[in-house]
Amino acid sequence: MNKMKEIVLSDYRIVLDDSLTALRDFLQQHTYSKLIVLVDENTHRDCLPLLQEVQDNLEVILTPSGEVNKNIDTCELIWQEMMRGNADRKALCINLGGGVLGDMGGFAASCYKRGIDFINIPTTLLSQVDSSIGGKLGIDFKYGKNLIGLFRNPKLVLISSRFFQTLPQRQYINGWAEIFKHALIQDAAQWERYRNLDILQCDINEIVYQSLHIKKAVVEEDPFEKGLRKILNFGHTIGHAIEAYSLEHEQDSLLHGEAIAIGMICEAYLSVKKCGLPQVALDDIVQVLLTHFPKHDITGFDAEEMLQMMSLDKKNEGSTILAALLSAIGNCVYDVPLSSAEIRESIAYYNSL
Ligand code: NAD
Repeated sequence: MNKMKEIVLSDYRIVLDDSLTALRDFLQQHTYSKLIVLVDENTHRDCLPLLQEVQDNLEVILTPSGEVNKNIDTCELIWQEMMRGNADRKALCINLGGGVLGDMGGFAASCYKRGIDFINIPTTLLSQVDSSIGGKLGIDFKYGKNLIGLFRNPKLVLISSRFFQTLPQRQYINGWAEIFKHALIQDAAQWERYRNLDILQCDINEIVYQSLHIKKAVVEEDPFEKGLRKILNFGHTIGHAIEAYSLEHEQDSLLHGEAIAIGMICEAYLSVKKCGLPQVALDDIVQVLLTHFPKHDITGFDAEEMLQMMSLDKKNEGSTILAALLSAIGNCVYDVPLSSAEIRESIAYYNSL
């Protein structure tokens, strides 16, 4: 039996609906000239058929998958196809895919003819609990990740765990990095619950629902990241640089969540030194994260190049690198300045584990 749940934000709704019929209901209440669905080759094969069970007349635009394609070239392809199909400003863009497609599709839709409506149907765990809500859209640029982008909310987010039937296990575990992060920054009770959970045999619908509540509360209070929202970047200051470095230099590069898990370990280490996180909490975080995200060899990563990337982080002020750190499990502070020496030390700590 389909148990539909929803989370209402100020200007859109997140509907958790395995039947996906909420899409049909939404389309009955809105008038669009055309329904464009953006897919990559994997979601085209595995996810589009589920959507087509509830909605026909979808015009498909196929994009190449992967972080390496989250760039302006793929946006150009999307815009070209929209133009070719005569999409006007009343067209709807449906982003059917993971965080790459959601970030980029939302960005492309928001720029096309000064902005058309879009909805997100996230198909990875990471995109369901994190990237599909909060309105951050964008693409990578040669100097780093997500450097070109804007804030704009979708009209609807539609979530179904049926997509996980085809999601590779590595991608599923990857999503857990953001679930752990949400608990670490805001909800000690959830962390306690997740610490010993068998993440492959759990009620994932319920966990997605809980995790979304944490992100919702934060983004609603601070939609444009003037203050509180920065706590969502815990693990990301160092993690993004590790991710970008891996993408640039490694054949089998780290996934976003995998890099963030490393970043969370480094930043939890700095949290002990700078924000009073108890050592026992650090040990706990390390133990849990390494259980799900086994050590990755980053000893060969060039710290200088990564520091250069961190210096371009959007959260910085001037040349000072700022991070969000934990003062306790479930409590996060932001705008903590980090020196190059501290960052190097935290990476050395990770390498020593
Ligand atoms: P992804 O979008 O690259 O998807 C992972 C892979 O899984 C892709 O190859 C995709 O084709 C495939 N896939 C997706 N759904 C599938 C399914 N149901 N079955 C089979 N294959 C499937 O990766 P991701 O982890 O979802 O997203 C990472 C991106 O999200 C990064 O670019 C990151 O910067 C971004 N992000 C954005 C925010 C935000 O607030 N906007 C937050 C966190 C992460």
